Amino acid sequence: MKLQEYTVSKHNFEECMKCTICTAYCPVLQVNPLYPGPKQAGPDGERLRLKDPYFFNYALKYCMNCKRCEVACPSGVNVADLIQAARIKYDSSKPKLRDQLLASTDFMGTVARPVAPIVNGVTSMGIAKTAMDALLKIDRQRTFPKYSPRSFERWLKRREKEQAAFPEQVAYFHGCYVNYNYPQLGKDLVKVLNALGVGVKLLEKEKCCGIAMITNGMSEKAAKNARHNVAALRKAAVDGGLKVVTTSSSCTLTIREEYPNLLGVDNADVRDSIVMATRYIFEKLEKGATLKFKADFHKKIAYHVPCHMEKMGWGVFSEKLLRMIPGVEFTLLDSACCGIAGTYGFKKENYAAAQAIGAALFDQICTVNPDVVACDCETCKWQIEMSTGYTVANPISILAEAIE
Ligand code: SF4
Ligand code: SF4
Repeated sequence: MKLQEYTVSKHNFEECMKCTICTAYCPVLQVNPLYPGPKQAGPDGERLRLKDPYFFNYALKYCMNCKRCEVACPSGVNVADLIQAARIKYDSSKPKLRDQLLASTDFMGTVARPVAPIVNGVTSMGIAKTAMDALLKIDRQRTFPKYSPRSFERWLKRREKEQAAFPEQVAYFHGCYVNYNYPQLGKDLVKVLNALGVGVKLLEKEKCCGIAMITNGMSEKAAKNARHNVAALRKAAVDGGLKVVTTSSSCTLTIREEYPNLLGVDNADVRDSIVMATRYIFEKLEKGATLKFKADFHKKIAYHVPCHMEKMGWGVFSEKLLRMIPGVEFTLLDSACCGIAGTYGFKKENYAAAQAIGAALFDQICTVNPDVVACDCETCKWQIEMSTGYTVANPISILAEAIE
């Protein structure tokens, strides 16, 4: 079956009862008058598009695919899926060079990593930012994530034997961010899981989950990565009987939901084996496993639930884990989008909207004034750190710091 045929009839637009609740929850609609909003771009637009593709509206590109409309919809309409599927099916424009570069995280990571200090230096220089702004339309005010000179995969491969000696094993879908930018998060996960008697394995070979490719008009490439990843996950989960843990809420949502719903890649036999590490650890502790916490650990933590974590309904596991740490003063931040949505907020035409969307969240963080903001998404981390100056850490890293 071709990708385009699959996406036509997949989504439940008929179940929309036109209540308009989704429009109140769409962060883009609040700040960008060019965007038609979830109801019009989703179920209403789908009725028209199915009659005549002429009704496809290029303003659908302003949708960030945050899924907040889906969380809000009382009828369970897959509003964001309808919008993304329409973009995949009807948008025939070729992705710009900028969008290809932003979405090719594996390629960029592979090229940048060996010369990471140079790349990190150049991308933080004002002149380079001005050039990228002028030539590529990547907003010059954006701060770029740093690359690591050593990959997480290499680090873990060197510890294969040591990890295999643990009585229990999990596989880890680390994602591009851990591998190319911040291996420390992967190391923190290994530390926590080892403390629970669990060893960590790499998948046979993972590729970028493809989330940025989907939103940047590269769905065929995303589907190719999805087929590759599902085969690797099948080897670990079905053949090897392992749980697969993750530390990025967006990678997780993509693998579990977007692969079948947007890319037509069947993941039914592996989907339930893929869980966020915070959920996996919480459930282990519930069953009686224990962690030994430092007696002198004290931190004021504000937890931001990323939009994709809200969509999965799993923020509660990170929250409960963080609340479990003795010495933590915990604040759950109001439900809000930070505005970056992966590559969205890097683009010059979206930068102002991204910052306006995140403003309420940034204000609340400043009011709470925490030692650290906890968050399960790397792009939220970039956005919050850049916009507030507060340090953001994955709940797994906070847990790793808190245990003996
Ligand atoms: S919230 Fe759901 S039912 Fe209500 S208008 Fe939006 S899509 Fe339709
Ligand atoms: S996915 Fe987000 S940006 Fe897109 S329509 Fe829904 S709420 Fe709005």
